[in-house]
Amino acid sequence: MSQNIEKINAKATEEQHIKRMADLLRQGQTLTELACPVCASPLFRLKSGELWCARCEKKVIVVKEEAELTKVTSALSLETLEATLLAKIQEIQEKMLHETKVEELQKLGSALSGLLENLEKVRKAKKI
Ligand SMILES: [Zn+2]
Repeated sequence: MSQNIEKINAKATEEQHIKRMADLLRQGQTLTELACPVCASPLFRLKSGELWCARCEKKVIVVKEEAELTKVTSALSLETLEATLLAKIQEIQEKMLHETKVEELQKLGSALSGLLENLEKVRKAKKI
């Protein structure tokens, strides 16, 4: 029994995470190529310039950010980010298949287009 409850909780948390990411994108916050050191989720750059993890719901301070990141680590985090985005896009697609409410479909649609935009950016960044 308790295992089932844990599964349900994990699913709810994951849904909240997707929703928070979608909300941040809608607010115009930027998805960065940096990954959270705690949960490896992609980090957002807030308009205030701070890095934010939507999964941990915490500010993240990246030591010696960007300037001293080697090309290798940034390529690796782009790979991680691309994989995360693809996984999220797939999750949203699955939700859309089962969703019947127009309002929810619109929300999912805008989350999806935000994710696709970011995927495009990641793929462009990988080519540099
Ligand atoms: Zn995190």
